[in-house]
Amino acid sequence: MATQDSYVVRCMNCGTKNRVPADKVDISAKCGKCGSPLNTEDLGNAHPAAVTDGNFDTQVLKSPLPVLLDCWAPWCGPCKMVGPIMDELASEWRGRVKVCKLNVDENPIMGSKFQIRSIPTLLIFDNGRLMETLVGAVPKEQIIQTMARFL
Ligand SMILES: [Zn+2]
Repeated sequence: MATQDSYVVRCMNCGTKNRVPADKVDISAKCGKCGSPLNTEDLGNAHPAAVTDGNFDTQVLKSPLPVLLDCWAPWCGPCKMVGPIMDELASEWRGRVKVCKLNVDENPIMGSKFQIRSIPTLLIFDNGRLMETLVGAVPKEQIIQTMARFL
């Protein structure tokens, strides 16, 4: 797999997108506009991150990358089709998109905040805002198409 030579990281202080060379990610990267430190800790993550009611703000709303959030539950059959796609996308989009999973049974606050009435539901966040909603076990191609403008 080709390694990325740079990453696009949003500054969560001023909202500016910064391009960070891969060899600068480990040292403290700063926003070119306001000088705030950039959050680069998620860039190496190739697996979906577990999001809860408790860590939603830091994991999703303050993410320096666009977020693809899979809202699911263990008893849900169609969710089992989407789960492996999330694993693949987390690996394929490593450093570009933060792929997350929210168990709606264990985290009812976020489930009701975003009015999730059927699962699986995929929510796309960018810069702390909900941008897109995909309801149902949508094919991987459709997820990729919907995410295209955030990549
Ligand atoms: Zn900034």
